[in-house]
Amino acid sequence: MNKAKAAKFMERLAERMPAPETELVYENPFTLLVAVVLSAQATDVGVNKATPTLFKAANSPAKMVKLGEARIRDYIKTIGLFNTKAKNVLALSKILIERHGGEVPADRALLETLPGVGRKTANVVLNVAFGQPTIAVDTHIFRVGNRTGLAPGKTPHDVERGLEAIIPAKWKHGAHHWLILHGRYVCKARKPLCGACVVRPLCEYPAKTDLVLETAGAEPA
Ligand code: SF4
Repeated sequence: MNKAKAAKFMERLAERMPAPETELVYENPFTLLVAVVLSAQATDVGVNKATPTLFKAANSPAKMVKLGEARIRDYIKTIGLFNTKAKNVLALSKILIERHGGEVPADRALLETLPGVGRKTANVVLNVAFGQPTIAVDTHIFRVGNRTGLAPGKTPHDVERGLEAIIPAKWKHGAHHWLILHGRYVCKARKPLCGACVVRPLCEYPAKTDLVLETAGAEPA
């Protein structure tokens, strides 16, 4: 996809959703970091069911350490991989206290040293908590980037680099949210809702359906 088309693609998603936000429940950078760590291989909905009570008990690294691994595990036991995640949440809380004065660092390299925090998690935290124009490529964005021709790539990092290169600066900060919500609710994995898709005329997916459904928001090519 060329840059002009990519700009139009993002403009259309932005028009549809002027103020996109993460669907994860959080109250400060620390709870956002914990929520994103817990969301690995789990749904935001599932994470949001567990975190309000966890964050009521512990919304800072110090309180999380005080809570201890067994109680953290108890709060998050409905989330997949909860054993490992409880260990990681406790360990990252200790590191934040020992090395960062109890604060979440606004720095990719430092974030990626924390247990359970990879490039994608660091990108979400930098974007949502610190307003940086990072693009975290999850399964939805990876699919949308490849399927639409917006940023084809073999790995999430390839797609991230492609999106960085093609999305104009003015859309970069919101791009993560727009693309993730588009992938989650419209450009779905098994049955993309092409008939109700605002970027259908721009999408380069060879198998996109040409049928325009009588659905709110459907647009002619
Ligand atoms: S037209 Fe279909 S394949 Fe293309 S972005 Fe929209 S939903 Fe996805």
